[in-house]
Amino acid sequence: MLIETVLLRNAALVATFDDAERELSGGWILIDGPAIAAVGGSGEAEPAAGRVVDASDMVLLPGFVNTHHHFYQTLTRAVPAAQDVELFDWLIALYPVWARMEPPAFRSATVIACAELLLSGCTTASDHTYMWPNGCTIDEQIAVAAEIGLRFHAARGSMSIGRSGGGLPPDSCVEDEGAILADTDRAIGAYHDRAPFAMTRVVVAPCSPFSVSENLMRESAALARARGVHLHTHLAETLDEEHFCLERYGCRPVELAERLAWTGDDVWFAHAVHPSPDEVRRLGATRTGIAHCPTSNMRLGSGIAPIRAFAAAGARVGLGVDGSASNDASHLLDEIRHAMLLQRVLGGAGALSAREALRLATRGGAAVLGRDDIGALARGMAADVAGFRIDTLPLAGGAAHDPLAALVFCRPANADFVMVNGRTIVERGTFVRLDIARLVAEHGRHARRLVSGA
Ligand SMILES: [Zn+2]
Repeated sequence: MLIETVLLRNAALVATFDDAERELSGGWILIDGPAIAAVGGSGEAEPAAGRVVDASDMVLLPGFVNTHHHFYQTLTRAVPAAQDVELFDWLIALYPVWARMEPPAFRSATVIACAELLLSGCTTASDHTYMWPNGCTIDEQIAVAAEIGLRFHAARGSMSIGRSGGGLPPDSCVEDEGAILADTDRAIGAYHDRAPFAMTRVVVAPCSPFSVSENLMRESAALARARGVHLHTHLAETLDEEHFCLERYGCRPVELAERLAWTGDDVWFAHAVHPSPDEVRRLGATRTGIAHCPTSNMRLGSGIAPIRAFAAAGARVGLGVDGSASNDASHLLDEIRHAMLLQRVLGGAGALSAREALRLATRGGAAVLGRDDIGALARGMAADVAGFRIDTLPLAGGAAHDPLAALVFCRPANADFVMVNGRTIVERGTFVRLDIARLVAEHGRHARRLVSGA
């Protein structure tokens, strides 16, 4: 048993994000297999362990949770045609490019997104892929995440209304609704793990209520509830969307979601930027989840989601980096910083503290994904740990006063140490098993070929 234990010791600070919000200077964490066995501070005797990792000059936190992403979009970061346009024009510019994507590029994009997330201290992520061109599959994504070691909630997205049906995407990007439900059901059966510490879960996730039929939205909710899995989609991202909803359905987006049985503690929405006070109350009362994506909302000029009002109303709120084409960075600490800063534009300097922003990315994200085994460093929780060095140039000065807050206020750093489910993924700032230079070069070749159409 001793062989399997790991002791992370002598940390400058262990920020637990447990119920008591303990912050332990000179702290240590004992890990036994996939779980945390004990956590202590400098005043408590350190236990023996099979392997000891020196965490001097590091802040240790629970690994961050990313609640919304589109991994494949790493191939289309900073594409000139989509740099300076709002959501609908952005989609129109990018759909034809994504429609050309083939499995080797899709696989490479998944590797790059997982690696970038992990290196930013993220240990659990949900991905929302809603088009599966040319034989790209959820199976491939799940295999890549498992191989790299990221805890993964694969949201099986879909679109069924193409241009000929009055939608935005080319017809070649959309699927038959029967096939969507059948493949989603298959993925749940093949991969969804209900057990504690599960590394793979499956989510039912049509792209948005406007890219599939009302019937598919209802059938998706029924499927998810019959199989005990969660539901995810985009909602209330832009004012354009709100106008479209009012025109087409005669109601606001949240009312549409309610009609379709899409609220509750098994549902989470990406964005929710433009809710009315009544919509905030309804999502709060049903404990619906929100993936707040501040960078994407700024990048596309979408607006500022009122996340304090959501949380006060009872909604579950976490953070998402969103797709790499509308954020261009899959960096959770960067997202945490932007969440803090953007709320201040809305509500003043006291609107969101560094610790509150970090809590959104840990406990908040865990709640959004429906998990009680991640998001805190405490006995019995999964051994998902991110360690950041504080003896660095960007943190000079900041770390001397408040090392935890400095991680958010100062320039976002990469993690120096990352462990997922007891497995060490990053050590001394480097991946233990991945050759990043080779993977980046390969991804660059795929990205150039995809966008040029060659
Ligand atoms: Zn999105």
